[in-house]
Amino acid sequence: YVHLPFCEVICHYCDFYTARAKDARHEEFFEALNLEAQQNLPKLSQPLDALYFGGGTPSVSPPHLLHAFIDLFRPHLTPDTEITMEANPANINPENVKAWKAAGINRISLGVQSLDNPTLKRLGRVHSAESALESIRLIASEIKNVSADLIYGVPEQDKEIPAIHAKALAEAGATHVSAYHLTIPASHFLHRRLPDDAYAWDQIELVAEALAQRGFRHYEVSNFGLPGKESRNNGNYWRGGPYLALGPSAHGFDGDRTRWKNVADWEAYVRRLKNGGSPLDETEILTDDQRKIEVVFTSLRTLEGLDLTAFRARFREDLQSRHAAFFAKLEEEKLASLSNEKLVLSFRGRMLADEIAAKLL
Ligand code: SF4
Repeated sequence: YVHLPFCEVICHYCDFYTARAKDARHEEFFEALNLEAQQNLPKLSQPLDALYFGGGTPSVSPPHLLHAFIDLFRPHLTPDTEITMEANPANINPENVKAWKAAGINRISLGVQSLDNPTLKRLGRVHSAESALESIRLIASEIKNVSADLIYGVPEQDKEIPAIHAKALAEAGATHVSAYHLTIPASHFLHRRLPDDAYAWDQIELVAEALAQRGFRHYEVSNFGLPGKESRNNGNYWRGGPYLALGPSAHGFDGDRTRWKNVADWEAYVRRLKNGGSPLDETEILTDDQRKIEVVFTSLRTLEGLDLTAFRARFREDLQSRHAAFFAKLEEEKLASLSNEKLVLSFRGRMLADEIAAKLL
């Protein structure tokens, strides 16, 4: 995972570490990023399954700097490596798309959020619905794997709207849709205008139906993909696999117990690397209990579900015997099914995944 923090506009609801693009010194930033990559390359013992540029808005980065950065990883890439970049519709033009493709980027994740112009305005987005759809068509003409983000649970949004938007995204050429429930801090003026959970679940159910008609699988609570277009990068997170993390505020994981986080300040990040130091800010060694929580919470959100055999082998704990009555209740209420030692939540069950996970721990 590579974090590129710069954004043209800082959205009021954003939780990620971001910085204003107008203050960016891209050459200097990428020099530091290249140094961090070189420090980490010796740790790669096998070809990369996925390389993911997240942010921020990575698409505001000069394409030649992205290309040179990807070149550092070239010996570890295969024709099969998924190379994703998050992009904003405002940065989509034929030159950029061609340059990204030439750099090896084979998947674009586009921050559409909505296809309703007043909603986009309320969310503080700089693009329009028309430009978002046009962007998908343009990307899809060069790069065959295009994901689009949608937000549902928006104040004053009709129930059917997210599904209508999801259908339009698929028709424009999106191969993957991520639909996120809008979350707003309780102190924010929009918070009290949010619809209740039941309304938002109805919205996502309609999204799932609209996309299923076009062959998309609802493979994780928030994610829908055509067969073979599921996000490999996210799949690795959900399976608890290892990943390196580069860039300010990026989090890494060794696949076992150790997590680490880089400093969340791009200028401090650049300074440290320039001076021969490390951008590392925190390291955390997870306890068995913390790992258990992560495994249960992430796996129940996916279509693969919670593998009870693997859980027993790893944590010496038999969830099936301990929660026999609860499992039976979940099956009876059609919230989950149990087969081949896997607990898989139904659509409604996945909407309650966090509550169900909490009961198992
Ligand atoms: S563009 Fe995306 S990353 Fe940047 S501030 Fe807005 S929501 Fe956050």
